[in-house]
Amino acid sequence: MLKIENLHAAIDGKEILKGLNLEVAAGQVHAIMGPNGAGKSTLGYVLGGRPEYEVTDGSVTFAGEALLDMEAHERAAAGLFLGFQYPVEIPGISNVQFLREALNAQRASRGEGPLSGAEFLKLARAQADALGMDQEMLKRPVNVGFSGGEKKRNEMVQMGILDPKFAILDETDSGLDIDALKAVGEGINRIMRKPDKGVLLITHYQRLLDYVEPDVVHVLVDGRIVRSGGPELAVELEREGYAEVTA
Ligand code: ADP
Ligand code: MG
Ligand code: MG
Repeated sequence: MLKIENLHAAIDGKEILKGLNLEVAAGQVHAIMGPNGAGKSTLGYVLGGRPEYEVTDGSVTFAGEALLDMEAHERAAAGLFLGFQYPVEIPGISNVQFLREALNAQRASRGEGPLSGAEFLKLARAQADALGMDQEMLKRPVNVGFSGGEKKRNEMVQMGILDPKFAILDETDSGLDIDALKAVGEGINRIMRKPDKGVLLITHYQRLLDYVEPDVVHVLVDGRIVRSGGPELAVELEREGYAEVTA
């Protein structure tokens, strides 16, 4: 479903990804772990199409298409969803307005008509309920004054509404208390654990992987995948540290 071959990427002339290879089949969840500064977020940004990052070599195929040739909005329309470590706040635009615009833009690019206000509200409320998010938060400006946990739940509500084919989630677990972690983990499973979908879960810690069990765990160090294994690799990393495991 997602095939990354020999990916090299730089920012401000500094090479961060140095020949990264990774293949995620439909139905799989892959976790990417690695020390600070390894290039994990860079990988997410490059796949999402952030313009500051320069791809200097390699290729990425997503559902049979050359991903790197697509604009960021085309990637989203093709079913790619990115969840960021620090979700943006958008003062002046309510959560429902934002989510409805996002969904209808994607529907339009697939040749589908927009959902009516009532249809959309029903969908948004169902997703908020499923994530344990207070429905009042749908009316508030996007992420403004939301706690860390509320932002992450909100991001999962957004993911539930957009129903993407592939999600790249960057440290979705950072700063979450146990209840929020559980809600987010269950959200990922409910929305994305399907035979025709895939997930790349970027995480520092093993604890999210207690809720979302990965099929494959990769260790990213200095711009390359240096080791891959099953879920037990995450446990080993947590116990022994990156230096020990990748020595
Ligand atoms: P991770 O998510 O694994 O912690 P990042 O992808 O955020 O790592 O960062 C990888 C490396 O890229 C780090 O060394 C970071 O300092 C560097 N980096 C990120 N953004 C920039 C930038 N705008 N200019 C120069 N270096 C950057
Ligand atoms: Mg970091
Ligand atoms: Mg990061």
